[in-house]
Amino acid sequence: MSLNFTAVEIIAAKRDKLELTDEQIDWTIKAYTNGQIADEQMSALLMAILLNGMNSRETSRWTDAMILSGETMNWSMLDRPTVDKHSTGGVGDKITLPLAPLVAACGAAVPQLSGRGLGHTGGTLDKLESIKGWKANLSNSEMMKVIQECGAVICAAGSGLAPADKKLYALRDVTGTVQAIPLIASSIMSKKIAEGTGALVLDVKTGSGAFMSDPKDAGNLAKIMVELGKRAGVETRALVTAMDVPLGLTVGNALEIRETIEVLSGGGPADVIELTLILAQEMLDAAKVKSKIDPATALKNGAAMDVWRKMITAQGGDLSSPLPIAKDKTYMKADRSGKLLNLDALKVGISAWKLGAGRQKQGDRLQHGAGIEIHAKPGDLVKQGQNILTLHSDDSARFAPALEALAGAVTIGDESEKVSRLPLIIERVGD
Ligand code: URA
Repeated sequence: MSLNFTAVEIIAAKRDKLELTDEQIDWTIKAYTNGQIADEQMSALLMAILLNGMNSRETSRWTDAMILSGETMNWSMLDRPTVDKHSTGGVGDKITLPLAPLVAACGAAVPQLSGRGLGHTGGTLDKLESIKGWKANLSNSEMMKVIQECGAVICAAGSGLAPADKKLYALRDVTGTVQAIPLIASSIMSKKIAEGTGALVLDVKTGSGAFMSDPKDAGNLAKIMVELGKRAGVETRALVTAMDVPLGLTVGNALEIRETIEVLSGGGPADVIELTLILAQEMLDAAKVKSKIDPATALKNGAAMDVWRKMITAQGGDLSSPLPIAKDKTYMKADRSGKLLNLDALKVGISAWKLGAGRQKQGDRLQHGAGIEIHAKPGDLVKQGQNILTLHSDDSARFAPALEALAGAVTIGDESEKVSRLPLIIERVGD
């Protein structure tokens, strides 16, 4: 490590719109991870990056430096190609849950290292923890055993993976610098590359319920991430997909597990099935797996369900135990008859979070039964007084703030009016 740099000169260089050199970037990430650069100095640098950007060389080097800050995983002893999927997060986005066992049933190995929810978007691990006994934290050897036996594993990323990102992400969260595209791209891709997957499919969400609400920004983020993956030798593709309306008919941990089981049983909502099948095909193509069974068949004939049962059981989950149900419920009703024109994903996400489905800060307890059931989606005809949403919580005092958060979430118009919403798949990036 060069000792010639100071944090102040690196901040000043970015403030003055200069490119950071490879050596400056390596030093910055290492010195911040070691505690040599103070949070207030890193905050200033992050803000300068948000305002003045980083070019593709700087972003790539920043990503590499974050990967090198920790351990990398290796799945080469598996007898089939590995492929992972990452979603930038949305409301009702439970796609990982049916997708991982489905892709495993079609012949790929899926090491799915997932996170917890923060704010209005849910986390895969929180959802799975609604299943009695299910364990998120596995040692590397336990992870390997589950993936060898089942073809897929969904578990927590260990603390050794890209530790620089953990510190940087926490700081970005409290300094208004999450939105910088080079920082988002390097944050996501450093973890995915360190995870050691051979192929990767990114689901970049856009719309009110996503943190990139403008589809153009989401497309730009997708291109930068695909480029970073390819440079690192990971076969990477991205889909930019809609998050203006919640996915499926449930938002909240146990409710989303129930919907996952419906999808794996051959039923479930059309948008969840469609996106699951599209992403499954992308993952199989990216991993170059010539499957003997196509994803739609594996979903219908129970092959994906078999992998799900094995995988959940291997991680201690008891599928014979009933899923948690919240103690109380209330309804949001249609205030007129007509056509449902909009159901705002962000407002539904915030409301579910206020009901107890999410946490305010890392470490808070959440309610596994809390959340929202959706009874009508945009385009559906509704009658005045009909239930549009059912709100679930263990704590009825939460209903008033949750209903308040839903103000303006539902728009009902005349039957003749057109629904204006994003198409499910907006853009595809990669080979
Ligand atoms: N998810 C991440 O892991 N990092 C970001 O910066 C944004 C979303």
